[in-house]
Amino acid sequence: MLGTMMRYPLTLNSLLERVGQLFPSVEVVARIPGKSVLRTSYGEAHRRARALAEMLQKAGLRRGDRVATLMWNQHVHLEAYLGVPAAGGVLHTLNLRLAPQELAYIVNHAQDRVLIVDDVLLSLYESFAAQVKLERVLVVRLSGAPVPAGCEDYEEFIREASGDFQYPDLDENEAAGMCYTSGTTGTPKGVVYSHRALVLHAMNFALPDVCCISQQDVVMALAPMFHVNAHGVPLTAVMTGAKLVFPGRYLDPESVLELFESEQVTFASAVPTVWLGILQALESQPGRWKLAPGMHGMAGGSALPESLLRGLDRQGIPMTHCWGMTETTPIVTASNLKSYMRDWPEDRRYEMRARQGRPSPFMEIRTMAGDDSAPWDGATPGELQVKGPWVAASYYNMPQGGERWSSDGWLRTGDVANIDPEGYVKIVDRIKDLIKSGGEWISSVDLENAIVAHPDVREAAVIAVSHPKWQERPLAVVVPREGAQLNTSTLRAFLAPKFASWQLPDAFVFVEQLPHTSTGKLLKAALRKQYRDWVWEKIS
Ligand code: AMP
Repeated sequence: MLGTMMRYPLTLNSLLERVGQLFPSVEVVARIPGKSVLRTSYGEAHRRARALAEMLQKAGLRRGDRVATLMWNQHVHLEAYLGVPAAGGVLHTLNLRLAPQELAYIVNHAQDRVLIVDDVLLSLYESFAAQVKLERVLVVRLSGAPVPAGCEDYEEFIREASGDFQYPDLDENEAAGMCYTSGTTGTPKGVVYSHRALVLHAMNFALPDVCCISQQDVVMALAPMFHVNAHGVPLTAVMTGAKLVFPGRYLDPESVLELFESEQVTFASAVPTVWLGILQALESQPGRWKLAPGMHGMAGGSALPESLLRGLDRQGIPMTHCWGMTETTPIVTASNLKSYMRDWPEDRRYEMRARQGRPSPFMEIRTMAGDDSAPWDGATPGELQVKGPWVAASYYNMPQGGERWSSDGWLRTGDVANIDPEGYVKIVDRIKDLIKSGGEWISSVDLENAIVAHPDVREAAVIAVSHPKWQERPLAVVVPREGAQLNTSTLRAFLAPKFASWQLPDAFVFVEQLPHTSTGKLLKAALRKQYRDWVWEKIS
């Protein structure tokens, strides 16, 4: 073999050292309890992350040991993102929207040794504390609450550090992070991220053809840091040295927009429901917020309706629509246009941008219809399968999770999709959400996206309800905008030009709100249960 390059491991430690050396004065800004804005810097984040790493090592943390966080998006969470892996540990972010028994199951399954918890979340911790065995609980006292018996003050813990922390000699394939899937049903499954996967994901995220992040940006970590590393935003900001803004627990559209304006945020990433709230606030109070010129965003986690994409364009926040999952770190595809598509007619461009996009470098995609891979014709549906360097190869300690991977090494995503001749994916549905009517499949996602395009609709879910003749038929559950008068015939007429008549929902139910999962996806399992005994008025 010819001699080539150095063997240099891709680890988060390089990113931590880099940001401390090159960008110490760049600001890190966080909303803290009480809603005030705290200003710190990458220099401080570097010093404190290393202090955390040193003290964790001194406390006996071994390579691969899990350290959990139960925290909002804020600057100390960033220290844990960097400091825990620097010590050779694995940062396990806990979803603070889960029920106590789910959190207890996850902490026990992951065998977390240490927990870092925001004082405003202490009552949540206390609701499951008796069911878990943690060696240390470090309380981040941003609201000034007293430290309960059996816990320690995070500040005092890191204050003991001497400052001469030595990085362990890590292999890039060692574990750095861990997150449990937010699945709508079934047992939560743990995905373990390697240093290499997180580094490559950050490099990919920053690419101009993905989310286009540079040092010039002001980046807000808006998606929760407990859900797939906030889509990868904090680590990408650290890698590029871009100013980083954390919204804390103030996630209502007005608070977010206030921070967009005061910090002149140029990039944020969130699920479509959050962007919808932001769009509605911008539309209802024109001119109230002055956003940074050139602001852009990423939407992912569920399908981005074309109407929302157009609306945000009108407000000067163009979106990149991405697809991914906990198992894929998460970003696999991004919907930016290719150069020659810029000349396409406007409607066609929007159609492409509303797709979930084309795969990133090193990501391979295919759709499988039975045993065969489906053609890239933009029509034939199949299960989306993916492989690549930031795709998980297994679940943590769950041998029965193996059926998620095909015998030839692809991750079965459980999503039904088609791929068009340009290589752009369109997610048709989760396999379990597809509606089978008289032997034909109907996409609930297509119907939902079309319904929310109606100006009087705030949100919509379409579910399969059993039908004596057709096996299943679509039922639409719709949340009208405040004060709007909506009825079934208006919506059927609105949808009629876009669908074959047999695809249209047979009934529309109007409700005040829809159930969501802890990460903002529609909770269709709950809706299916609620409408299980629905009686169709007329059998067509
Ligand atoms: P999670 O692991 O909780 O992030 O959920 C991953 C799942 O969210 C995927 O398998 C999809 O079903 C869904 N999802 C993520 N991004 C999108 C998107 N852009 N469009 C449609 N569904 C999406």
